[in-house]
Amino acid sequence: MSTTAVRDAAEYESRLQQYYFERAEEARAVRVGEKDVSEQAAIVASYRDLFTRPQIEALREAEAAADAEERERLYRLRKTCEAGVISAEIAEQEDALENAILGASVTFHGEDMPLRSAQARLAVLDAYTDREELGELERAASAAFNHDRRTLLEAREQLEAEVTGDPDPVARNEEEKAISLRELERVLVAASDATTDAFDTLRNTWFEKLLGSKREAQPSNAHVHYLRRLSPLESTYTKDAAVDICLASTLALGFDMMAIPNIRLDLEDRPQKNPRACVIPSNPPEVVHLITRAQGGLSDYQAFMHEAGHALHYAGVDPRLPFTFRSISRDHALTEIYSYIFEAVTREPGWHALHFGLSDAQAEENAQATLFLEALLYRRYTAKLRYELGFWSAFAEERGRSERDYSSALTTATGIRYDRRNYLADMDAGFYSADYLRAWIRSAQLRTFLLREVGEDWWRSEATGDILRELFLEGTRPTSEEMAGRLGFDPLDTGPLVEDLSAA
Ligand SMILES: [Zn+2]
Repeated sequence: MSTTAVRDAAEYESRLQQYYFERAEEARAVRVGEKDVSEQAAIVASYRDLFTRPQIEALREAEAAADAEERERLYRLRKTCEAGVISAEIAEQEDALENAILGASVTFHGEDMPLRSAQARLAVLDAYTDREELGELERAASAAFNHDRRTLLEAREQLEAEVTGDPDPVARNEEEKAISLRELERVLVAASDATTDAFDTLRNTWFEKLLGSKREAQPSNAHVHYLRRLSPLESTYTKDAAVDICLASTLALGFDMMAIPNIRLDLEDRPQKNPRACVIPSNPPEVVHLITRAQGGLSDYQAFMHEAGHALHYAGVDPRLPFTFRSISRDHALTEIYSYIFEAVTREPGWHALHFGLSDAQAEENAQATLFLEALLYRRYTAKLRYELGFWSAFAEERGRSERDYSSALTTATGIRYDRRNYLADMDAGFYSADYLRAWIRSAQLRTFLLREVGEDWWRSEATGDILRELFLEGTRPTSEEMAGRLGFDPLDTGPLVEDLSAA
């Protein structure tokens, strides 16, 4: 082909749908261990014509001439095209870094282990000092890639500025998310400050119970996975019961996951399978994969419920919507509301009593542990957003060379010691932290709405399922902020979130 075809919006959308499907199915096959070689590059090459600068221009022109509803669809197609152009130009560099990290290893107590396995191991090491030791090895090995991480970040930033025509990374993300990141940060920090006392009480209790009395005043982040798994309570939250209890929990909400043909469940424990739970929406609502592999501990249950929320959302979209509004969103803030509300079931004392044979008092106590974890993560992400806003605001001068307040902001917010060397590894592209944080605000609003409409039993009532089903129908079309309107809240109203986080 000498020159690449520029397609009109309808043709573009239809070919994009095929491309998404092939890439998603390939990713699934590798993830679950059906294939041991990823052939994404071949798929990308055969769809190369989708991601060109003339195509960006054609979509931009169509967008300028369209009415409001159509304009949104065209906007998302254009942003997808832009992202594809950027990815294509930087893919080789990204793969090189990814593969170098995959090839790195650490030696712990005489055993060589891949760097990537060290984190999983940290979750199950019972001795505090072992976790400290392996954590330090992991941080040092990871920091060796900081030069390459920064070079890549700089290359990507330069490309994004050029392709989108906007040199300001903060403004660019604000435009795409259609929010003010700084206003968001302001209300998040206020909510974090308002719940500091409640968090300190929870932290003192649960550090003592989970990390023991010989811990340091500020344990390092090496312990976070161990905390999240509630490893000392592993005999309650067993690996074997995870799937059945989670299926029963979603069934109570009116979703029989075993009987929804569009959701392809892969819940088996196979050694080649990646243990991280995920949803791959290959073609919503027709083909949605939910993949989990239980490892033992409460985090299995939370991960399954989280992914169930995503899967039910994608499998519940109105099939009459155009592909763009079934599959493409401006960001991840909407679908994370649904994952969060399903995960919130695991913070209900009644859920712990019902499924694990605990006394009411024990169930209350364990539910409080989940609240502690929730508050810890919320505070970590709020501090991360503050740090990331500073990092990207200064990027034009600093080029990512300074770790700024990464360590102090996260350590002060959580009481866990975050090492300054992590400042590049601990950053997701495109202010993903802001999407999670919007979902935190919104899912707390949704829970308050459900308490009002359904009652205290919202977490095990089919009435909740009926309400969610209506929202799922709208697909990926609404923004998180529009969802606030459906629930009767102001988008930045953190009242319900503050109430949840102070509930101990
Ligand atoms: Zn999620």
